[in-house]
Amino acid sequence: MTIFNLGSINVDHFYRVPHLPVPGETLAATGYDFGLGGKGANQSVAATKMGSKVVHIGMVGPDASGRDMLAEFGVDVRYVGTDGSVTGNACVYVDGEGENLIVVLPGANHEQSLDLIEGALAEAVPGDHFMLQNEATLGADAARLAKARGCFVVYSAAPFKAGKVAEMLPLADLVVVNDIEAQQLADHLGCDISDLPVPNLIVTHGAKGATWRGAKTFEQPAFPVDPVDTTGAGDCFIGAVVAALDQGRPVPEALRFGVAAAALQVTRPGTAQAMPDRDEVEALLR
Ligand code: ATP
Repeated sequence: MTIFNLGSINVDHFYRVPHLPVPGETLAATGYDFGLGGKGANQSVAATKMGSKVVHIGMVGPDASGRDMLAEFGVDVRYVGTDGSVTGNACVYVDGEGENLIVVLPGANHEQSLDLIEGALAEAVPGDHFMLQNEATLGADAARLAKARGCFVVYSAAPFKAGKVAEMLPLADLVVVNDIEAQQLADHLGCDISDLPVPNLIVTHGAKGATWRGAKTFEQPAFPVDPVDTTGAGDCFIGAVVAALDQGRPVPEALRFGVAAAALQVTRPGTAQAMPDRDEVEALLR
């Protein structure tokens, strides 16, 4: 089967700094690195590394750098357009204590093309998965199309955006949030987390694991590891869970697979480049 993912693509720039800059300060960085980022791109990379066929739908600027990076991970980028003003990008400043300061420019992620979405989803068949997050525009239009094509719609409601809840929740077959986002959703709707009006809900609990609430509830504790960098853990988890579902694994197995993948991911620095592959996850699960 195929996973279609409408999602953000960023180029992240990392600067190591002696301390976080204060207003008016010009600061010399002590190190620099750059890499692929954006929740959408991270999730596509994770699902691809778990062995699934992933078609990413998105938009980058004229230099296409983000699209090329995504393609290097083996993601199908035929429906990543290059009409956007500038590829989404983030400046991440990290001090010696690991504290960070991040500035994100959404850029082309806010210029999605309905033509590209329609073109990609014309290839979808019933039983395929469609994923989306809150960093790209046209999510509701795309989710409606995906549902009409018989896809299982997985909505990662992150970052939390109150304005999207009403239109997105009724379209989702599975909603994935962390503890904070779950509470934000519940507060917004004036209900308890256990009463959120979605057929299936995954809540991730960081180092404590994850819970699936649907027809049945499944709790999966995290795998004990020594984390070095938890950035992108949630994206790795979601990509791995959706890949496992796409490959026909039952829910508790898919949940365990996602938690194992994320445990490996947090033991490595970086985001997309820190995603493990399926063999590594299988080895941890043996
Ligand atoms: P992020 O925003 O950092 O990508 P998130 O807030 O969306 O993450 P988390 O709940 O922090 O999501 O983490 C997702 C999953 O990653 C957890 O359900 C867990 O399985 C795994 N995980 C996160 N932190 C750890 C940890 N310290 N040890 C083991 N597993 C972890």
